[in-house]
Amino acid sequence: MFLAMDNDLSSLRTWMEIDLSAIRHNLRVVKECSGEGTKAMLVVKANAYGLGMKAVCSLLEEEEFIAYWAVANVSEARYLMEIGTDKPIFILGPTHPGEWEEIVHNGWTSFLSSLEQLEGMLSLISNNPKTLNFHLGVNTGMGREGVQPMGALSFAKRFAELEEKQSPIVRRLNVDGIGSHMPVADEDSDFTKEQIKIFEQISRQVGELMPLKYKHIANSAGVVGWGSSCGNLVRPGLLIYGHNPMGKNSSLPIKRVMSLKSRVTLVSKLPEGEGVSYGRDYITSRPTKVATIGIGYADGYPRQLSNKGADVVIQGQRCPLLGRVTMDQIVVDVSHLDSVEEGDEVELFGDTISVEEVAKKADTIVWDIFTGLGNRVTRVYSNNDMPDPSMN
Ligand SMILES: *Cc1c(COP(=O)(O)O)cnc(C)c1O
Repeated sequence: MFLAMDNDLSSLRTWMEIDLSAIRHNLRVVKECSGEGTKAMLVVKANAYGLGMKAVCSLLEEEEFIAYWAVANVSEARYLMEIGTDKPIFILGPTHPGEWEEIVHNGWTSFLSSLEQLEGMLSLISNNPKTLNFHLGVNTGMGREGVQPMGALSFAKRFAELEEKQSPIVRRLNVDGIGSHMPVADEDSDFTKEQIKIFEQISRQVGELMPLKYKHIANSAGVVGWGSSCGNLVRPGLLIYGHNPMGKNSSLPIKRVMSLKSRVTLVSKLPEGEGVSYGRDYITSRPTKVATIGIGYADGYPRQLSNKGADVVIQGQRCPLLGRVTMDQIVVDVSHLDSVEEGDEVELFGDTISVEEVAKKADTIVWDIFTGLGNRVTRVYSNNDMPDPSMN
């Protein structure tokens, strides 16, 4: 369910508050720290990291800085087509032969990672009039996609050969760029610097044999660390959605976009020696006032937070999580609050508790927390740039 912020939120149980103007702000920040003339392939995979692909794409559709929307796979590309967009759609992950016909038919762009894939796609368009849009993927350290650096030259030579023969099919090959991916942009700057150098070298050599409009390698961490020296297209995701993967090592003015809220559904008093939640891992050591809250791991509040010292915020005060996170509910200690009531708002993360704190305690990363937030969580959008409120 989607709502605008000026709706009455009092009937909501669990929701995300999403500040669309902060998304716009973050896009501007990314633009400023990318090189002159650089464009973006905005990563909106995984339902725009849980914030809503339709809301994000409608909000930013007119931004000229964005050259492509990037999705992970064919089903996300389909969804984006349904939403409707005039921008080209790029599929980030490798695709399998069973998907190619649909990709070519819809004019989506994807990475090609081998000569075999090129040949396969060529035979597909040899008996159909469509254009094949692709970027050459090169593996420079991630190991999950792209030709090896040496293979990039063979690929480009095959392309040049087709061109030399003036093969009519060449006119229906639209090679729009070359790309690679950074495995440690937020962890190892020596490796990343070397990686960028190698990528530039390959791009230059390939560019002599194949026309290349875009060269791209930077994810969010790459943009923060090396934005102005990373080709002419950046691929930010998390940074746009309000979290800087470089943390305190970066002073980039990225604004938080999202907070996760729920409500107290029951306040009760438990005597000393009472167990709380599955497994009875937690036993009260004194009479304890507890609040039951309407969020659980099925909403994306990580079960791994069980017994890890996590807090939630009620009335501006931290309240410790007791026992295990269950599918639909959690229980917190509110003994120190005077007047907690059923229906009170609860912050799981936001102003007081950072999503990073939650990710750390759950022994995972912020990307995982964002994309794990489930369908039961109502997306509530604030700001006057509100896109079509009928979106689902
Ligand atoms: C997901 C993804 C990105 C975006 O990563 P962030 O760290 O969220 O910026 C960029 N490039 C590729 C290939 C990806 O798969």
